[in-house]
Amino acid sequence: MENITLKKNDIFELEITDMGVDGEGIGHVDGMTYFVKDALIGDVIKARAMKLKKNYGYARVEEVITPSAFRVEPKCPEHKRCGGCQIQALSYEKQLEFKHEKVRGNIIRIGGFSAEEIDEKMLPVVGMEEPFRYRNKAQFPIGTDKEGNVVTGFYAARTHSIIPVEDCLLGVKENAPILSIIKDWMNEYHIPAYNEETGKGLLRHVLIRFGFTTKEIMVCLIINGKKLTAQEELVSRLLELEGMTSISVNINTKNTNVILGDVTECIWGQSYITDYIHLRTTSDDVVGTSQEFEVTDTAVAYRISPQSFYQVNPVQTEKLYSTALDYAGLTGEEYVWDLYCGIGTISLFLAQKAKKVYGVEIVPQAIEDAKNNAKLNGFDNAEFFVGKAEEVLPEFYKNLKAGDAMLNPDVIVVDPPRKGCDQACLDTMLKMQPERIVYVSCDSATLARDLRILCDGGYEIKKVRAFDQFAHTGHVETVCLLTKLK
Ligand code: SAH
Repeated sequence: MENITLKKNDIFELEITDMGVDGEGIGHVDGMTYFVKDALIGDVIKARAMKLKKNYGYARVEEVITPSAFRVEPKCPEHKRCGGCQIQALSYEKQLEFKHEKVRGNIIRIGGFSAEEIDEKMLPVVGMEEPFRYRNKAQFPIGTDKEGNVVTGFYAARTHSIIPVEDCLLGVKENAPILSIIKDWMNEYHIPAYNEETGKGLLRHVLIRFGFTTKEIMVCLIINGKKLTAQEELVSRLLELEGMTSISVNINTKNTNVILGDVTECIWGQSYITDYIHLRTTSDDVVGTSQEFEVTDTAVAYRISPQSFYQVNPVQTEKLYSTALDYAGLTGEEYVWDLYCGIGTISLFLAQKAKKVYGVEIVPQAIEDAKNNAKLNGFDNAEFFVGKAEEVLPEFYKNLKAGDAMLNPDVIVVDPPRKGCDQACLDTMLKMQPERIVYVSCDSATLARDLRILCDGGYEIKKVRAFDQFAHTGHVETVCLLTKLK
């Protein structure tokens, strides 16, 4: 078709036929591909051209001419301006379908596996029963509006202007009263909010964590300074809230986007909260289970500090980890490596059913937490090492004697960050020849790339399943089981 050249701000009709990785709408017209934020698959829109390149461009929704059949009324009035959710206007069912397709598509396109093979191995996506109020952690930026009032909420998409949303529907109900206490206290005691441009002001962020099982609350105030003024007054007001367990101050005087600084000082109660993750007995159990949040025999306890990495969606984490454990196929006799183990969340799940678990993690503090969590739960069969998986694993491989159980694990579990596993890590995994590899992934593109390497190295995919850990966003987690070819 003839290329009709559009200019910036031109208005044109566009049918949205696909969805991008971040939930943005995609439409094609006159040989061009357009990416449109807040347009949904199935919409016909009047689009306004924004940034244009040779074969693709970005456009805005000027008007929805015919709405998609999958459009729903978003619960949050700020869903468009706020950067937190991307696809709240899409029905939850369709969101799940999108995530399943995203994983499937990447494995086929990037991994080079056949559609038939993947369709045979891929299980239905695991969604939430109630896809709101699922986050156990929230970080609210604090600022000042044009009239000089203290504001808190979330950053607008791609900017640092604060949209006042104090009761985000992805977060717990407990957040709003905490923020309201802090705001009142700031106004009364003239505590200045931090200003990113000038680097002046005191309070930068408020971090809140909530234990879904224990109902324990942690509040951490991130400040640009050494001390909090009128601290006792704030503490006494926060203590009126049920469940308050840990109040701390984190010092961050740097001009940076990184929220937390290096030093945290507990100003009331404990420096951590405790929460539990419960084991689901079988992976079939992961769909449609009601969420009880009681402490059971198979629950593992975790201590969580302000700095700890801890999965933010406890409901889905239980399903994800129970599936990973099920795929590991443990009987009590196995030696298992858990690479990228963080605070040992998966490792301790594995330790319940394995002979021995070795965890590897790059962040020293996380390994400290992992060791403490092992003690807390009475596991003496989990050992943890600080370092890069791609260095620690090859190092052991080089130095240990043949026949050592560490060299011949039955199972290797990996849960890498978005960039996936390093080649040196995958190479050593292949040399170790475990019977099973369980790959937990937060980025299906790098998962697909790594699956290809593992399958070329003598493994085959047995099961793939996507999990919705982050409803209303474009993110998706995946668990994949690979077994050694005989
Ligand atoms: N399995 C854990 C953490 C998964 S997140 C859990 O579910 O809680 C990925 C972890 O990999 C992070 O803790 C991060 O610090 C760690 N990490 C990042 N790069 C690494 C590397 N090269 N080697 C080992 N760990 C790494």
